[in-house]
Amino acid sequence: MNAAPADQIRLLDVQALDQRLSQLAHRRKSLPEHAEIESLTADLAQLRDLLVASTTEESDTAREQTKAEQDVDQVRQRAARDQQRLDSGAVTSPKDLESLQREITSLAKRQGDLEDVVLEVMERRESAQERVAELTDRVAAVQAKVDDATARRDAATQELDTEAASVTKEREVVAGSVPADLLKLYDKLRVQQGGVGAARLYQRRCEGCRLELNITEINDVKAASPDTVLRCENCRRILVRTADSGL
Ligand SMILES: [Zn+2]
Repeated sequence: MNAAPADQIRLLDVQALDQRLSQLAHRRKSLPEHAEIESLTADLAQLRDLLVASTTEESDTAREQTKAEQDVDQVRQRAARDQQRLDSGAVTSPKDLESLQREITSLAKRQGDLEDVVLEVMERRESAQERVAELTDRVAAVQAKVDDATARRDAATQELDTEAASVTKEREVVAGSVPADLLKLYDKLRVQQGGVGAARLYQRRCEGCRLELNITEINDVKAASPDTVLRCENCRRILVRTADSGL
């Protein structure tokens, strides 16, 4: 393949712009915010699970409390009815009176036990409420951190995208001035060779693979016409001669 030396040198400009583009893509992918957001999001999911569990516990204990209070009420009402009957004087038989007294005493004890149950449930409910409040605060705090990291990631991404867009435009202009067949070869090699398709021959060294050309290769380069598109014997990249090639 042949191409004017100036076109070959312009290919090095295209290569430099492509390298900047891949650096920008790499920076975009490896922004520290990505890992930060991932870790915070995992924390957030865990806290939300705990919050759901605590909220469920809170509503369960609320129901339990209502039930326990109803139990207390029932016993209290029954004791009140018994007391009324006793006070009314309607019960006269000593045996019935004794049995009524016994029931009132036993209901009083039962009421006391049930009131202890209410207190115990209320304590559990209070600690569940405290836990819900604490977890709600923690969820909000971590969510705020996620929002902050997301905003920072988006701003950094936007900045890199803006820069990449301008480099892409510049690349289009420079690549547009390189002969199509040379550019096609370059693009093919760039894909095959890890992003570098054209390398400068600098001080007898291929800047693509960093190997120094041997004497035979140097003689071949010297003998080649300036228009010949050379390839590195080692890495097969397009080898571009400049004033600093050491020939
Ligand atoms: Zn090479």
